[in-house]
Amino acid sequence: MSDPNLKPIADKVYAGERLSAEDGLTLLRSRDIWTIGELANHVRHKLHGKTTYYNVNRHINYSNICALSCKFCEFYRKKGQDGAYEDSVEQIVEHAQKAASGGATELHIVGGLHPFLPFSYYTDMLRAIREAVPAIHIKAFTAVEIVHLARISKRPNDLAGVLSELKAAGLGSLPGGGAEVFDDRVHDEAFKGKIRSDKWLDVHREAHKLGLMTNATMLYGHIESLEDRIHHFCMLREAQDEAIENGYEGWFQTIIPLPFFPDGSELEHLPGPSGLDNLKMLAVSRLMLDNFAHIKSFWIMQTLEITQVSLDFGVDDIDGTVVWYDITKLNGTADASGGGGTHQEVGVNELRKTIIEAGYDPVERDTIYRRVERDGADWRVVEARSETATV
Ligand code: SF4
Repeated sequence: MSDPNLKPIADKVYAGERLSAEDGLTLLRSRDIWTIGELANHVRHKLHGKTTYYNVNRHINYSNICALSCKFCEFYRKKGQDGAYEDSVEQIVEHAQKAASGGATELHIVGGLHPFLPFSYYTDMLRAIREAVPAIHIKAFTAVEIVHLARISKRPNDLAGVLSELKAAGLGSLPGGGAEVFDDRVHDEAFKGKIRSDKWLDVHREAHKLGLMTNATMLYGHIESLEDRIHHFCMLREAQDEAIENGYEGWFQTIIPLPFFPDGSELEHLPGPSGLDNLKMLAVSRLMLDNFAHIKSFWIMQTLEITQVSLDFGVDDIDGTVVWYDITKLNGTADASGGGGTHQEVGVNELRKTIIEAGYDPVERDTIYRRVERDGADWRVVEARSETATV
């Protein structure tokens, strides 16, 4: 241990005690990446041993037309602008059928805040998918989209009603996007117009009450401070405590820390986080979020190489095979089309190899972390849903 400030934190981690916000800040400020990794690895092994999860999924970004213009976003277009698109329900069903015939267990569906599509577009989409490919899990709509759907269906204060209708139409769980960084100053500067943390947490709270599992994210490495990052962790931890203490039937399953990519955004002048920052954030997520079962490294944004190393830094989930991810166009990630761009995909064998090479045991999961047995494109779930938020 090269940083003596980490000693009391290490004592707490080995004693299984909760870390304070101050501890989190000390970890983020420390340059002793190996000790931080070792502590996160200790917790990871206690919870999951060598098990490392992946899934077979497909992303569908139904439209990039968005009423907002977030500074960090390179995805959105205005209606009529070059490159703007919106998929019909029929096109979305075609994507879903292709995904199902390729063996996907999950559809991850998100899009811009389309100013003109009616609420029925979203429920029709869910029903049509459910009918066409009943076995596939639909994880869809970030909290930001849910608030938008509440507005366009003229019931801005009835998040529970909106979520119930979506659930009845086929929604299976919520992804974790749109959280950005839970700080009003940062929000108003970089994500103006987007919902703030209180609303984001309200959506997830209502989803948890309805028995929907959800995920969380943090977009870091732009204009936020280290204190803001720790505040974000503490707010998520509190929200999860609330779900657990109140016996809600849903809860947060995982956090996916997302490094900010400045290229192509209005914040292009910023450097973005380094590989070491990324590893540290994954490890500190594991250490601070003691009531979250999983820490996910989203390989599309972290790269497969960092993801492989991250398995020793607290990560137990590397997400999925991911086909056609439109939100962040990166170069250098694994890409079946031979370059960067939007066709970002790795096969199951490559994901498994990534995990095995790092000394871990690959386990395919479905969206709610049940084990999956697979024979080519055929699969079946072989485990019941976890009864508790923590492992
Ligand atoms: S981040 Fe989301 S809400 Fe903001 S402009 Fe992009 S698509 Fe729209």
